[in-house]
Order: sequence, then C-alpha cells, then structure tokens
Amino acid sequence: QANERESMFLVSEYAQKFYEKTLWNTEPGKAIGLSYFKERGFTDQTIKKFGLGYNPDQWEAFTKAALGEGYKLDYLEKTGLTIVKEQQGQERKTFDRFKGRVMFPIHSMSGRVLGFGGRILTNDKKAAKYLNSPESEIYHKSKVLYGIYHAKQAIAKEDNCFLVEGYTDVIQMHQSGIANVVASSGTALTPEQIRLIHRLTKNITVLFDGDAAGLRASLRGVDLILEQGMNVKICTFPEGEDPDSFVKNNTEEDIAHYLKENAQDFIQFKTSLLAKEAANDPLKRADTVRDIVNSISKIPDQIKREIYVQECAKLMNVSEAVLYNTLAQINKKLV
Ligand code: ATP
Ligand code: MN
Ligand code: MN
Ligand code: MN
Repeated sequence: QANERESMFLVSEYAQKFYEKTLWNTEPGKAIGLSYFKERGFTDQTIKKFGLGYNPDQWEAFTKAALGEGYKLDYLEKTGLTIVKEQQGQERKTFDRFKGRVMFPIHSMSGRVLGFGGRILTNDKKAAKYLNSPESEIYHKSKVLYGIYHAKQAIAKEDNCFLVEGYTDVIQMHQSGIANVVASSGTALTPEQIRLIHRLTKNITVLFDGDAAGLRASLRGVDLILEQGMNVKICTFPEGEDPDSFVKNNTEEDIAHYLKENAQDFIQFKTSLLAKEAANDPLKRADTVRDIVNSISKIPDQIKREIYVQECAKLMNVSEAVLYNTLAQINKKLV
C-alpha cells in the first residue's frame, strides 16, 4: 500500500502544479481565478505562498492533462480529483471534480499535498460554496488542519495557535502578519486535529465567525481542547464579520489590539454566552451551570479545575459547594 499512497501523493502534487500554472499562465486562469483572488485582497506573494490555483471550467481539462503526462486514471479517481462514471453499454466518462473552481491545496505538517478545497466563483446557491477532496488513503479530513505547514514555526515561536473556520481566514491573517493560524475547514474539530496543535503549543485561541451559526456546536470542540489539558481562549468578531473580512479592513495594529482586548478565557466566554440565553429563567440557569461544570470536568489539572469553579461560582452567583457536588456527580456519571 506504500506504493499506492506514494502514487496518490505524486498525482496530488502534479494537480497542485497544474492548477497553479493554469491560474498564472492561461487566459481564463488570469481573467477568472487570479482576478478573484485579487478582488479578495490577496497579493501575488500570498497567492504563491499558499500555492493557490484554478481548475478550468471544462469537463475534463485537468484529467486529460494528467493522463497525457502518464498519471494513471486509477490514482486520479482514488484521490478524487477525477470522477469516473461507468454506465452499462456506454462509454466510460471522466469529469474534473473541481471544474471551474479556485483551488486551495491542503498540506500535511511536512508540506506534502494531501488534498484540496475548491471554491465556486458564482453566487449559485444550489452548488456547494466549497468542495473538498473526498476521504482517501492520503486525505483524512479529521486529521488535517489547513495551514499547519505554513504555521508550525510561528505556533511554536508564539506559543499560541489561532484556530479559525476557513481557508481565507488563514490566508488573510498571514498576509496581515499573523502566521500562527490554522483552520478546521468546515468540519467539527477532532481530537486528532487538536493533537497536531498540541505538539507545538499548549495554547489555543479560537476565533469564531461573527455569525453565531453553530457557535454552540463549536463549543463542543472547545471541550475537546480542554480534555487535552490545553488552555483555551475565545474571540468573536462583530456580526457578519469573520477573521478574513476583519483583518482585511483593519491595520495590523488595530488587529493586534482587537485580539488582545477580545480574547476571553473560555469559561468567561461560555458563561456570558449561556447566561445571556438563560436570562432569568431558573431552570435554564441551572442547565447552564451544569453545562459549564461539564466543561470544567474535562480539565485534567485539579488546580485549574478549582480556579474555574471559583470563577464560575462568581459569574453565575451560585455557591462553590454546589459546583463541587455537581463536579463529583459528573465524575461518577450521575449527571
Ligand atoms: P468565503 O469567505 O470564501 O465565503 P468562508 O471561509 O468565510 O468562505 P464559511 O461559510 O465561514 O466560509 O465556512 C467556513 C468553512 O467551512 C469554509 O472555509 C469551508 O472550509 C467550509 N465550508 C463552507 N461552506 C461549505 C460547503 N457548502 N461545503 C463544504 N464546506 C464548506
Ligand atoms: Mn461561518
Ligand atoms: Mn467565514
Ligand atoms: Mn469569509
């Protein structure tokens, strides 16, 4: 299987180069793909650094080029770059999966191309905005973090990792001088992804889009970070903004200031968020307290747990004793 994986890596590397060449050296690439990236505010240097590209808007431009270079259809299919349709009594048909999309290669920690994200350029609401490589022997979406290769040194140096939602958030932040940033790219955060970061730092700052969508669901990801004994801060952005749009519209100084002022410890963040939702409803407030204590129970370090209990007691106006009882019940799986 080692050979098969290697062949898939080679096909992916070829694809990355093909998409990149198409972007810079062909008329549609320049007129459609490159101008799209420029409109988003990416510089030439940034586009090159992340190896961005364009897949022509033709049924099988990439597939034909790859086959012409001697790459086997089997591997084009296994990496998902080509979709193969076999129909009874008909000729086999092949299609480029990423037809007409701008391409974001996804690299491993060591810089190999594992797969791609492809963004649509039209505002067609029926088509998926982003399409990703399918699961394969080399691409396991639960184990990759977009940007990790370009961020790893900065994460270690800053001893902190910013975690964002999307490809363009990572890229735009790099361009604004913040290099310690990775994205989970639309999937719920997994323990494997957190372990990748944990190899480099114990500190994560989660930057949520200011669209509230899935904020509560994303909080579950935070529990996974706590479970690994890491420190979590959370920062949100104004309504309708994400890190990409925010950093694009602000100076490096303002960005640093905003992150510093708005990065809250997870417990303060979660408490104020849930407390607001619960308002004065006593039963909802009780649920909120349980929810927060549940997060605290994930923290392996006893001293940290204790500090958080004190914090939560103050913020929710309940006694520490009640929180310790709840914590004990959770540990015995009674709640
Ligand atoms: P853009 O700024 O290009 O519109 P975004 O990164 O802000 O993109 P979001 O809608 O905030 O997009 O989604 C965050 C991430 O979730 C995306 O970067 C992408 O990885 C993933 N995603 C978004 N929409 C889809 C989709 N329709 N199918 C698959 N993945 C998606
Ligand atoms: Mn979003
Ligand atoms: Mn976004
Ligand atoms: Mn965005």
